[in-house]
Amino acid sequence: MTAFTPEQELFADTVFNVARDKITPLVPRMEDDDRVPPELADLYRQMGWLALLVPERFGGSEAGVTEWTLMVEQLARVSLAAVQVLESMGPIILLRYFGTEEQQARFYPRIIESTGCFAATEPEAGSDIASIRTTAVDKGGYFVVNGRKQFIGNAGESGVIALLVTVDSRSKTKGLRILMVDRNEAAGLSVTREERKMGLRGASLGEVTLDDVEVPVSNLIAGERAFHAVQVLFDMGRPSAAGQAVGVARAATDYAINYALGRHQFGRPVFDFQGVSFTLANMAMNVEAARELTYAAAAEVDRGGPRRTELSSMAKAFATDVAMSVTTDAVQCLGAAGYTQDHPVERMMRDAKALQIFVGTNQLQRMIIARELRQRAAGASAGRDA
Ligand SMILES: Cc1cc2nc3c(=O)[nH]c(=O)nc-3n(C[C@H](O)[C@H](O)[C@H](O)COP(=O)(O)OP(=O)(O)OC[C@H]3O[C@@H](n4cnc5c(N)ncnc54)[C@H](O)[C@@H]3O)c2cc1C
Repeated sequence: MTAFTPEQELFADTVFNVARDKITPLVPRMEDDDRVPPELADLYRQMGWLALLVPERFGGSEAGVTEWTLMVEQLARVSLAAVQVLESMGPIILLRYFGTEEQQARFYPRIIESTGCFAATEPEAGSDIASIRTTAVDKGGYFVVNGRKQFIGNAGESGVIALLVTVDSRSKTKGLRILMVDRNEAAGLSVTREERKMGLRGASLGEVTLDDVEVPVSNLIAGERAFHAVQVLFDMGRPSAAGQAVGVARAATDYAINYALGRHQFGRPVFDFQGVSFTLANMAMNVEAARELTYAAAAEVDRGGPRRTELSSMAKAFATDVAMSVTTDAVQCLGAAGYTQDHPVERMMRDAKALQIFVGTNQLQRMIIARELRQRAAGASAGRDA
């Protein structure tokens, strides 16, 4: 079993207890009106969770991916939608590893005050982000940005958007740039649509339109190393998606076990029937395996280990596939009750689907894993031949 420090265990318990007490009452409203409750960002700010990854000298906790993953896992046990306000992780990580001192001083307080997001996806560029068409034209001192981003988590709420743009679409990855944009200082930037989603109700998934938006050159993050910066961000973001998956899958498993123990048919708890108990055993087994892989990946990312890309993709694909199958099985274990909104497992099942798609679909994760395997095999055979 992954061994956490006593501080990490205490932190995880605190997050869960606070989420259970403060977020659970918000969930029915989120489901009904599909709007982000302002209480969420207030709570995360008050608890210091929005600043968890922010360096200490800027008022944060300077935590690693392991602590972040522990936090989102606990939150996801209560509500996966409520986690999505923490899309602020994107701009915070980009600033932490690629921002200048001046950029960090300018943007961290704004993100903590107003949350943030990372906007890459476009109508014509999803999995293939090197094909983006949002252009930034250098006018000397500032860029003029035009384009459209879609399916951006937390877009509607964000005060700061880390925007992936291109200065030369023919150069693909080499033409990519990242611009940190403060919405208060970006005339021509608007959130033009909020998606109507299958799940994650109460979280924002928005379209951002950029119409001749002027962005100072001083807002450029990572310079010409934008594609590398995005890879670093994804390596750190995938354990987070995996942690969310573990959280929702744990919650669904716990709920289904309790239901099966309390529901009687044929004069016995349905838990007593092997068809149900073996399903529950498989669910618990898969959650445990997903959790181990998730924290192995988080630890590898934190130590900057050589397998961080491979393990974080494995954790993301495995844990999110587990979340989908476990939440579906949880509905089945409840029978018709599971199909109603009287029980949370139908919400968990709808929410879990998003996890297989964002931060790169699970097909894309398998492509990355296969690429890493090929490289390692090629390296090993080159070593043998030498
Ligand atoms: C809830 C949610 C939150 C999101 N948040 C953000 C965000 O904050 N920022 C952001 O930029 N984006 C965000 N996205 C968008 C997400 O990153 C994209 O949806 C994802 O990268 C896939 O792109 P696409 O939807 O255009 O699918 P497409 O790329 O059009 O793919 C369609 C299908 O083809 C498959 N496919 C594509 N290429 C290949 C290939 N080479 N081999 C095998 N299969 C392939 C895909 O796996 C998928 O099944 C979010 C999406 C969701 C659902």
